[in-house]
Amino acid sequence: MPITAADLLAAARDDADRTVDLRRRLHRTPETGLHLPRTQATVLEGLAGLPVEVTTGTSTTSVVGVLRGARPGPTYLLRADMDALPVHEDTGLPFASEVPGAMHACGHDLHTAMLLGAARLLAERRDEIAGQVVLMLQPGEEGFHGARYMLEEGLLDAVPEAPVVGAFALHVFANQPGGVVSVRPGPMMAAADHWEVTVRGRGGHASMPHAAADPVPVAAEIVLALQTMVTRRAPVFDPAVVTVANLAAGSTDNVIPDTAYLQGTIRTLSPERRADVVASVRRVATHVAAAHDMEVEFVHRQGYPVTDNDPAVADRVLAVAGELVGPERSVLAAEPLMGAEDFAYVLQRVPGAMAFLGACPAGVEPDAAAGNHSNLVVFDEDVLPAGAALHAAMALDALGA
Ligand SMILES: [Zn+2]
Repeated sequence: MPITAADLLAAARDDADRTVDLRRRLHRTPETGLHLPRTQATVLEGLAGLPVEVTTGTSTTSVVGVLRGARPGPTYLLRADMDALPVHEDTGLPFASEVPGAMHACGHDLHTAMLLGAARLLAERRDEIAGQVVLMLQPGEEGFHGARYMLEEGLLDAVPEAPVVGAFALHVFANQPGGVVSVRPGPMMAAADHWEVTVRGRGGHASMPHAAADPVPVAAEIVLALQTMVTRRAPVFDPAVVTVANLAAGSTDNVIPDTAYLQGTIRTLSPERRADVVASVRRVATHVAAAHDMEVEFVHRQGYPVTDNDPAVADRVLAVAGELVGPERSVLAAEPLMGAEDFAYVLQRVPGAMAFLGACPAGVEPDAAAGNHSNLVVFDEDVLPAGAALHAAMALDALGA
């Protein structure tokens, strides 16, 4: 008997207590970075008893589960991230973080709980599955490239005879309308690059700048020249953001410092724009300094690439979510988010999509809600069944059930 969206959502709702319970356990004991031993133990406990073959990472505390359908077929990947942020929680929730200075402020606890909920739904429906589902549970999403480690350890070959052919991930947002799924073809999130510039001048007495080489006005000129570069060089339909987030020089009022320091971020939505803007930041800084007979040191660190949704998969997300939560709650995202996401590495290798799930608490205006990464952010747990059902439904859709 074919599985209907209504059945799947009803089953996820019946199972909601377990999903909420797991989410709260994770929420109480957040861990950050690539090594999450407690979180990993909780996840392994959650998978125990399910027909899922489990392997754990060697370089990180990642978890990979393989659920085999009743018949052979392709392999589809569902992903959740498990790491928290170095934020001190101030929500006052009864299940608030018990770890000072760490908080699940980006909803990764919800992601993990929803994926394990999906595993339970799929385990009960193995007869309808032709193929395998890989459950990807990664640490280190918040800037630690956790997905890359998993790919290097052979994530996509978790089923040796049937490599992963498609992938899906969900991200909750506390300031998007509760229960609304959104997705778009192409860029869903931006590429992020870190840069630093040190302007090398020559220190001296503040009363005699001609006898020194003052890096401070040069740094100021670089800040403004970067903004001019962005507006004159990046096409409006292939945009870029360059932010100088940190500017530091000197220590007192009567000394010209030796150096001035700037650092910031570059956000772009295409590989071409990314390469051009990184090169342009370096060129502008170097040549503005050269105009004043000074030199710069430039440092560039690559962050995550563009999270690029496959158009066909994005279409399937809209259709599947439409059946599950209603077409009015399954919407085309008007624009990408300029944040970055390391699921991008998976999408560089296989076609797939990341969708957003609004989790603004009932009775709160999304615009007024504390956003992800805030010490006050609250996510609506009522969205958990829909998220678990959507993961399961995407896998069932791909595996021809
Ligand atoms: Zn996140």
